[in-house]
Amino acid sequence: MNYCLERKKSAYLEEVIRKIEDKNKNEVEFIQAVKEVLYSLEPLIIKNEEEYRSNALLERLTEPERIVSFRVPWVDSKGKINVNRGYRVQFNGSIGPYKGGLRFHPSVNQSIMKFLAFEQVFKNSLTGLPIGGGKGGSDFNPKDKTDFEIMSFCQSFMTELYKYIGQDTDVPAGDIGVGGREIGYLFGQYRRIRNAYEAGVLTGKGLEYGGSLARKEATGYGLLYFMREMLSANGHDINGKTVTISGSGNVAIYACEKSQQMGAKVIAMSDSSGCIYDENGINLEIIKDIKEVKRARIKEYLKSVPSAVYKENDGDIPAVYTIKADIVLPCATQNDINLKTAQLLVNSGVIAIGEGANMPCSNEAIEYFIENNVLLAPAKAANAGGVATSALEMSQNSIRTFWSFEEVDKKLENIMVNIFNQCKQAADEFEYGINYPAGANIAAFKKIASAMIAQGVI
Ligand code: NDP
Repeated sequence: MNYCLERKKSAYLEEVIRKIEDKNKNEVEFIQAVKEVLYSLEPLIIKNEEEYRSNALLERLTEPERIVSFRVPWVDSKGKINVNRGYRVQFNGSIGPYKGGLRFHPSVNQSIMKFLAFEQVFKNSLTGLPIGGGKGGSDFNPKDKTDFEIMSFCQSFMTELYKYIGQDTDVPAGDIGVGGREIGYLFGQYRRIRNAYEAGVLTGKGLEYGGSLARKEATGYGLLYFMREMLSANGHDINGKTVTISGSGNVAIYACEKSQQMGAKVIAMSDSSGCIYDENGINLEIIKDIKEVKRARIKEYLKSVPSAVYKENDGDIPAVYTIKADIVLPCATQNDINLKTAQLLVNSGVIAIGEGANMPCSNEAIEYFIENNVLLAPAKAANAGGVATSALEMSQNSIRTFWSFEEVDKKLENIMVNIFNQCKQAADEFEYGINYPAGANIAAFKKIASAMIAQGVI
């Protein structure tokens, strides 16, 4: 991957990449995430090769400070004992307490946890807030489980996890399969075990017990604030554009809401089974009812809007990407857009991609978009609004106050504008043009590198 530019090669970088591939052989997603970042840093590495090499900076940057893996036994409604595996990856704490979500999904494994935690280190650096990077989760599948089973699992998970987290140590939040309900059960168990009300230990909490207004909306809204800045810097306006969104979870729903508020027309959304296409524009209230209340499949949309069309996923291009739109927002999961999908999107005239999910585009897809002048809002910058607002939730918890929706939303908007400016400045400085993924990596890395060097060999 060369990000479209012929560059001088760094021997140190090539050596480190080889070592990482060797040491983490089966961790495909982790290696993908590391390569995406490190190759884009090459001009900076060449400039500072001596210093970085003598500090073993890249080796330390790509090795988690700590990985915890644990057994999670729990009893289901039929009395059967189940056993899942839990993880917490504390990747880099040089800027602040580890911070990053928990994912409950059957696909969770060490490679996915490590890639997410690695990305989180850079994302958190871009927010400008004092938070380090971590991530966790379990291969538990929350689908079709009763509330009682979800609670039973969350309590068992926290009974082990509580040893490793704390409001000044490591502060988890939600991610795929972990929303307000799960955070509630996790927080309850933590409070019970600790016999203390340490509200800042988890974010994404309910408003009644220390949560922040606008946290639920933050990732999706933040994505659109970033998108607006990126479009405007390149002579486009979001108003009147058509948008398709993959996913219909937390990020997707609030990306849809803000797109509509900004005057765009969202014509398709999806879940892991397929997508709905509504040429008149998605009715978001119906989606919220299906996904946030009934926890049902997106296909149900047709019951309320019979004129909409449902397309089942089949083949390696998810159905939602076969619908032509100006702006595409992948907000579901990693590697949703491969090279073939990217080629289809470019051929159908897409203007911009906004990564709401983490690593939704393969490295080949990223490169293809940039080569074809498609504007790409990179995940670690564009979806940083969620973690930034989590940090605002932590601030409110520490000073025991509660800000209004408008206050939090305004802070979020400022943070996202600032993140876009950092990406653009770094891309300009290193002559990367519209390569905002490279700009994001460089801007985030500079701060982490200085903090790590200043703190010595740890
Ligand atoms: P949710 O669990 O709320 O929603 C996930 C959505 O993605 C669902 O529509 C789900 O469909 C779909 N999905 C999940 N896995 C797959 C898969 N393997 N293939 C196709 N579709 C899939 O999660 P979030 O909205 O919180 O997270 C979505 C993405 O955003 C993730 O990549 C996450 O890491 C990232 N993110 C989330 C943040 C947050 O604040 N929540 C912050 C920053 C990034 P189905 O119901 O059928 O499984």
